[in-house]
Amino acid sequence: MNKLDRRTFFFQAIAVGSALTSASTLAQPNQPVKLDENDPQAKALSYKHDTKAVDKQKHPKHDDTQRCDNCQLFQGKAGDEWAPCAIFAGKQVAGPGWCSAWIKKAA
Ligand code: SF4
Repeated sequence: MNKLDRRTFFFQAIAVGSALTSASTLAQPNQPVKLDENDPQAKALSYKHDTKAVDKQKHPKHDDTQRCDNCQLFQGKAGDEWAPCAIFAGKQVAGPGWCSAWIKKAA
C-alpha cells in the first residue's frame, strides 16, 4: 500500500465510522418526554409534579396520599419516579404527581 492509498483508506475508515455512529444514534428509540405542568392538557387537569403542590381551595377532595403512582391510570409501579399515564399519551408523569383525573388503583 503506497502512501496515498493509506491516506485514502484512513479517511474512508473515518467516514464509515462516522456514518455508522450517526445511524446508530438515529436508530435509538425516542426518549420519553416528561409532562410539562404548563402543557394545556396538564393545566386543564391541574396536574402537578408534586401532589403536595395541588391547590386545596380548587380541589377540596384532594389529599396528599393521592399520587400518580397509586392511580389506576399510572403505567409504572409504586415508587417509580416517572412513568407513562393513560391520560397523557406519549408523556411521562411524576410518581409523586397528581391530576384531577386521579382514580384509586385497584388493590
Ligand atoms: Fe397522575 Fe393518574 Fe392524573 Fe395520570 S391520571 S396524571 S397517573 S393522577
